[in-house]
Amino acid sequence: MIKAQFEVIDQRFRRVDGDAFVEELHTGCRWTEGPAYFPAGRYLIFSDIPNDRMLRWDETTGAVGVFRAPAGYANGHTVDRSGRLISCEHGNRRVTRTEHDGSVTVLADRFDGNRLNSPNDVVERADGSVWFTDPSYGIDSDYEGHRADSEIGACHVYRIDPDTGAVRVVLDDFLRPNGLAFTPDERQLYVADTRRKHVRRFDVAADGTCTGGDVFAECDAGSFDGIRLDDAGRVWVAAHDGLHCFDPDGTLIGKLLLPQIVSNLTFGGPKRNHLFITATTSVYAIRVNFNGAAYPPLRN
Ligand code: MG
Repeated sequence: MIKAQFEVIDQRFRRVDGDAFVEELHTGCRWTEGPAYFPAGRYLIFSDIPNDRMLRWDETTGAVGVFRAPAGYANGHTVDRSGRLISCEHGNRRVTRTEHDGSVTVLADRFDGNRLNSPNDVVERADGSVWFTDPSYGIDSDYEGHRADSEIGACHVYRIDPDTGAVRVVLDDFLRPNGLAFTPDERQLYVADTRRKHVRRFDVAADGTCTGGDVFAECDAGSFDGIRLDDAGRVWVAAHDGLHCFDPDGTLIGKLLLPQIVSNLTFGGPKRNHLFITATTSVYAIRVNFNGAAYPPLRN
């Protein structure tokens, strides 16, 4: 057990609280990422990227086992609104969906005929479109994938059309796009640029067109990775000293300090008030007095 350290930077964070301790659910990984909680099955899937495996924590027993290995050096995951796992795979340079029967469908592996770099993180919108970031971390070296040159020559944010499967660029002015999250009303999108150490916010039209994109937050501890929102619209971002919490006005209001570099987070449990955090060698959990954002149901 680790003492829970909620650092209050602004009075608006004073009521944010949770367990007095942070629980280490698992350790011994090289770089954990991609926490995805499945409410129906009460388990958490996460990646251990350099070891090319995905692990599964069973909430009913506390046991952790290998879910998939090799795992295409999988990184970020999400659970779509039909309860299916969507995965970013560095090694296979693609985004996939694991169907209810266990088969794996490729959602995207190319743009304009060129192979993607190494998809990093992914979210689904209520229209069924799947949005993902494509930095180069999985092709920069053999550590988190397979070293290769970029065929696209840039690191973009993409949208997969729910009807046609077409892949299109939605954001093309990032150096290393990484974590991404919509607001609960899905009219705005936050995207981290890890190289530039900031998060930007965009307005999103119904057809997925993004405008704006001002810098929303700068990182004061290393750089940013995964992003999730709570149902008050607060923005929780993974950084090197823990999770940073921003008010929707962009103010850093507090942190949940953690002993390892944090890569990502997700909310779980039937009320989305169990916070799961992937951080370097470990996966942590803490029950909190706030709730993860509830997103609208699929509109297809
Ligand atoms: Mg990431």
